[in-house]
Amino acid sequence: MTQYLKHKIFQIIKEIAGQENLQVFVIGGYVRDLIMKRPSKDIDFVVVGNGIELAKKVSSKLKGKPKVAVFKRFGTAMFKYEDFEYEFVGARKESYTPDSRKPAVEEGTIQDDQNRRDLTINALAISLHPNNYGELIDPFNGLQDIENRIIRTPLDPNITFSDDPLRMMRAIRFACQLDFEIYPSTLQAIKENKERINIISKERITDELNKIILSEKPSKGFKILDKVGLLEIIFPELVALKGVETKNGFSHKDNFLHTLQVLDNISKNTDNLWLRWAAIFHDIAKPVTKRFSKHGWTFHSHEFVGKKMLPEIFKKMRLPMNEKMAYIQKLVLLHLRPIALVTNEVTDSAIRRLLFEAGNDVDDLMTLAEADITSKNERKVKQFLKNLENVRKKLKEVEEKDKIRNWEPPISGKIIMETFNMKPSRDVGIIKDAIREAILDGIIPNEYDAAYKFMISEAKKLGYITPVKD
Ligand code: ATP
Repeated sequence: MTQYLKHKIFQIIKEIAGQENLQVFVIGGYVRDLIMKRPSKDIDFVVVGNGIELAKKVSSKLKGKPKVAVFKRFGTAMFKYEDFEYEFVGARKESYTPDSRKPAVEEGTIQDDQNRRDLTINALAISLHPNNYGELIDPFNGLQDIENRIIRTPLDPNITFSDDPLRMMRAIRFACQLDFEIYPSTLQAIKENKERINIISKERITDELNKIILSEKPSKGFKILDKVGLLEIIFPELVALKGVETKNGFSHKDNFLHTLQVLDNISKNTDNLWLRWAAIFHDIAKPVTKRFSKHGWTFHSHEFVGKKMLPEIFKKMRLPMNEKMAYIQKLVLLHLRPIALVTNEVTDSAIRRLLFEAGNDVDDLMTLAEADITSKNERKVKQFLKNLENVRKKLKEVEEKDKIRNWEPPISGKIIMETFNMKPSRDVGIIKDAIREAILDGIIPNEYDAAYKFMISEAKKLGYITPVKD
């Protein structure tokens, strides 16, 4: 493995290891990624001995002597140097109790340290001692598993997953990220231990979900999560989308598979995690809005109801309840609108209205609408995409003309209140809305004087006759 050890830090550690006769190894994800030729910026070292002391020694030999952050409680130390993050820890042995994923830790050998790793592909170590510099220490055939693209635990999977159930999420996440298959007995153990996921914090589960969502083909991870029964526990609203119902010869599509297809589609066009989440949530209210009429299945208002469902789901899953949620809510609410604009005779005012409501997120909304086309009929898909391309063009034309995206009407609530000597009230809102609507509908131009005149006539309807300042 010597050919892989190009970093100068490896040479420095080799020298220290020789002088002090220390068994030091580079271990874990970095080794896996080296072999797989994937970029990686975090390098973990294990030393049979004191990791904190080793980190300080290594840092003292580097230019600029990077500052070492010490985490005494965990016996680890790390520093950043030239774009990389280096972490040092003493080799350890772990033993678990059933109600916690925090093990009792004691000093151990390199083999003990490899035993506590989650997956064979993450348990590979390369020696940095001069006596066997570059030797791969691979007690669980991790190298072969990389070659065969297999996810498997080093020890009995039932124990590995029961000890720390987060490892079930990690196994599925790596299967998805790397496009590997989970070994049958490992998969079976996840099924058997799925309930143990309840001892893991929601934040950690969502971190893993985010990594699945950011993979090239996220549907793979969600399908495995579903198959093993974890999805039902961590994200039941998504599972509720599953299934096809048929009545009087009318069927609807399987909205779970549709949603996963939309997620895969959008992932080809964006790396924006939150836009990908919007794809996951776009039809989330279909199960609760589903009705059957004599013309077939309907999901009326699923976009409104979906928007309303999000805060509770976000809270439960510890997703951020901030502007990211508002962004996703907006996309869920508006996701049907671009398709509704596809007809030839669409008016400028309909386009203006969408630009106004979507604001700066209008391009993301179009990306979502495009991903939402999942017909099996290639010809139909092509036609729909072409239609949406035309909507994009119209949006651009109207935006260039009218600058509506971040637009504020020329008459503010403050002006209305000052003009009529009003206190903040419902009437102020009514007049303000009327002015905005009139401009968006093209009834009056987007100009101060026209809007002022319109304000006077609208106020009149509400009984405000004489402007105080006129
Ligand atoms: P990524 O950076 O993509 O998350 P990684 O494998 O480097 O991948 P880390 O979370 O940085 O993941 O963990 C580093 C190493 O620590 C892993 O390769 C694995 O050997 C070990 N590890 C991490 N989490 C666990 C866990 N829950 N149980 C056992 N070993 C783990």
